[in-house]
Amino acid sequence: MYLPLVRVGWIDALEFDQHSPPNTHPESPDRLEAIRQALRTTGLVEFLDRHPPSPVSPELLEAVHDRRYIQRLEALGKGWLDDDTYVGEATVRAARLAAGGVVDAVDYVLRGHWNRAFCSVRPPGHHAHRATGGGFCIFNNVAVGVRFALRSGRADRVAIVDFDAHHGDGTCEIFRNEPGVLYLGLHQLALYPQTGDGVPQPGSISVALPPGATDADALAAFERTLAPSLRSFAPDLIVLSAGFDGDFRDPLADLELTPRGFAGLTRGVVELADLLCEGRAVSVLEGGYDLEALAEDVAAHVWALLS
Ligand SMILES: [Zn+2]
Repeated sequence: MYLPLVRVGWIDALEFDQHSPPNTHPESPDRLEAIRQALRTTGLVEFLDRHPPSPVSPELLEAVHDRRYIQRLEALGKGWLDDDTYVGEATVRAARLAAGGVVDAVDYVLRGHWNRAFCSVRPPGHHAHRATGGGFCIFNNVAVGVRFALRSGRADRVAIVDFDAHHGDGTCEIFRNEPGVLYLGLHQLALYPQTGDGVPQPGSISVALPPGATDADALAAFERTLAPSLRSFAPDLIVLSAGFDGDFRDPLADLELTPRGFAGLTRGVVELADLLCEGRAVSVLEGGYDLEALAEDVAAHVWALLS
C-alpha cells in the first residue's frame, strides 16, 4: 500500500454548509459536498488528517479587518454586502470558522504536526478587504492565517500564491507595503475585480492570463515569473489561495485549465516549498463553481499536496 511521506491536514466542517446564499448562487454549499465526495471516492481521504476548525479569535480578526466592518456584519443579520455577496443568519459564524480553520492549519504546519494542509472552507476570502467584504467573500481567510503566522514568531516571511481566476484584490490591499508578505497572483486579465493587470505593485506580482489560456500557458507563467520571485523572497511558509474557477468548465471565467494544470501548479509550489521552507504549505479554497470540475481539480490538487 502506498503511504505518503508527508502529513497533510484537512480542515472541514459541516457548519460551512450553513452559509447558504439563496436561489441559484454559484457559491453554494454543494461545492464542499462535491469536494468531500471526491476525496472519499478517490480514497484520498485515507491519507488526510481531518480536523474541525475553531473560530478565529476576535483579536486576530481585528488585526486584519476593521472593527466597524465586523460590527456591521454582526448587526446586519441577513442581507447583501454587494450585488453577489450574501450574509445569512449562519454566515458570520461560518466565516469565523473559515478564518479560524486557516489559523489552525497554519499553526499545525508551523509547529511541525503537519507538513501541509488543505482548508476546504467557505465563504471564500481573497476579495475581502480590510473594511469591506465583496465578491462572495466575508473575511479574508488567507490574510488572517498569514497575520497569525507572522505573529507566531515562527515565520518572518510568508508568500501567498493565488491561482484563482480572479485577482486577490483584498489580500493585496491588506498586505500592501508589508515587507514580510509577498503576494504572487496568476489570474485572468480584465475579469472581476479588474485589478492585478500585471503591473507590479508594492509587495505583489501578478500575471494576468488572456481568456483561453491553457495549462501550458499557466505553467509557463508560473515558471517564468512567479517561481523566480518565490525563490528570491525565500519564505518561511507558503499559503495558497487555491481557486479552481480557471477550469475550462467553470461558468465564471474564460480560462481553459484542466485538473492536470492545477496538479502542475500545485507541484510547482510544493517543490519550491520543499526547497525553501521545509515543505510548509497551507492551501485555502477560494473559487471554483462547476461542481464536477471542482471535484476533479481539488482531487488533483490534494494528490499533489501529498507528494
Ligand atoms: Zn475566483
